[in-house]
Amino acid sequence: MATSRLSDSTLEHFATVLQRRREELLHLMHANDEALGQVRESLSEGTNDDEHDPEGPTMSDEWSKLTGLQAEGVTELRELDAALERISNHEFGMCASCGTAIGRPRLEARPYTTLCIDCARKAETH
Ligand SMILES: [Zn+2]
Repeated sequence: MATSRLSDSTLEHFATVLQRRREELLHLMHANDEALGQVRESLSEGTNDDEHDPEGPTMSDEWSKLTGLQAEGVTELRELDAALERISNHEFGMCASCGTAIGRPRLEARPYTTLCIDCARKAETH
């Protein structure tokens, strides 16, 4: 099994970055969840003002926006957890496809990426 070539201090740095983002994300998702609760209430009360203000965002628009955000949050959370697991498995920073080290700038930009830039490009063109 290939092991990460990143130093302990580099791994620690990314663990901190990922943890911080994870906390931020949980916070955002909690706020989102509350907003969703409010929209759900307005929808069930039947105070849907679609007809009065056709130009403004409707409650159902708001609902799909929030559920979309929430789904994105769930996905990102999964990626963050997977990245943190790879740190503890010493697999972090290695491409999941070809096994080469992922460039540091790429990891800084997307710490939870599992593919090196070449494999990511290949995956995109599929
Ligand atoms: Zn690769």
